[in-house]
Amino acid sequence: MSDTAPITQDVATIPRKLPEGPVNIVGLTRPALRAALVAMGTPERQAKMRAGQIWQWIYQWGVRDFAAMTNLSKAYRKELAEHFVIEIPQMVSRQVSADGTRKYLARIAGGHEVEVVYIPEADRGTLCISSQVGCTLTCSFCHTGTQKLVRNLTAGEIVGQIMMARDDLDEWPERGVPRDETRLLSNIVLMGMGEPLYNFENVRDAMQIAMDGEGISLSRRRITLSTSGVVPEIARAGAEIGCQLAVSFHATTDEVRDRLVPINRKWNIETLLEALRAYPRLSNSERITFEYVMLRDVNDSDADARRLVKLIEGIPAKINLIPFNEWPGAPHARSDWDRIEAFADIVYKAGYASPIRTPRGEDIMAACGQLKSDTERGRKSRREIMADAKL
Ligand code: SAH
Ligand code: SF4
Repeated sequence: MSDTAPITQDVATIPRKLPEGPVNIVGLTRPALRAALVAMGTPERQAKMRAGQIWQWIYQWGVRDFAAMTNLSKAYRKELAEHFVIEIPQMVSRQVSADGTRKYLARIAGGHEVEVVYIPEADRGTLCISSQVGCTLTCSFCHTGTQKLVRNLTAGEIVGQIMMARDDLDEWPERGVPRDETRLLSNIVLMGMGEPLYNFENVRDAMQIAMDGEGISLSRRRITLSTSGVVPEIARAGAEIGCQLAVSFHATTDEVRDRLVPINRKWNIETLLEALRAYPRLSNSERITFEYVMLRDVNDSDADARRLVKLIEGIPAKINLIPFNEWPGAPHARSDWDRIEAFADIVYKAGYASPIRTPRGEDIMAACGQLKSDTERGRKSRREIMADAKL
């Protein structure tokens, strides 16, 4: 019998079944949703249009109930409800800082929690979202780095953080919200918990939904992905996501960067800069953001500032100086204010914008690098933290 077993199979005989149990629509890419609709029995020629209609309901109007999708037939809505769910992370707490910053704790499947931070400013509202529960990396100054990686977030959990914040801001169009430029939630930064380039596919799929005109509909120029320097994935991010890039630079010699950002031992400063120079579409209006956390007596000298501008020569760049945000047990101290200003001045005089990032939401531990879900058990010991930092 095996002699005659077919080596090719007629596509019509390939079972097209949905997995057991309802599928979460949130986070499915357009092709994936189309395929799932076809598997449910939607005629191929209709699937594309139906997917677009469903996307608009979910991502533009904030609808969470198939019954409310009134441009679909009643029978179709019922069928959708049998096969799919519309699920986003659950907001378990919300803290509002004196400066208006909001910090949310979002619960995802398995009972894990990630933090999401909304930062209102005069000309924009930025949502800082997480890509992993914990992080595999152990940057010495980062609170998240003290928490072991628990798991990657799914695409639905990543885009779902945006939807959760829009619920809280009451920003869905049918509730009378203004148009794009004046959106409350106008910008996304992937600067929460985790290393986004170590969860590439899910981050890419979620950002594609965020950028799609029938999705969340934010311009790729309003989305910034921050990486600690996962060099092989940088080109891929440029090609497959196309958003703005920020890099956690933090040091100007390999010796210091090896200690602060241990991934530097794998891909050093030179290799990283090479990947950054090749990032697509770099120009004066699309610059790479170099994040530089100011640590007293570690990386904050005038010589560091001069080395920094020399290293990045020729790269359209902006240097974001981040005063170190303290957290309990942190092995570093924040540089003095006049030190930060002197550093900023050297960088500025070399021709680079060098904003000093005003710490936001400090009173609620919502500032950069302070994020960490206290409920997680997998905690690195203080000894491990100090050892990683070689302090
Ligand atoms: N894992 C990614 C993105 C998340 S961190 C990355 O490392 O780029 C977002 C930014 O906050 C990074 O530049 C990070 O280095 C910085 N950061 C981390 N801990 C900090 C702290 N305690 N104070 C100030 N900035 C910090
Ligand atoms: Fe991970 Fe980024 Fe924190 Fe480093 S700075 S430990 S890469 S989250």
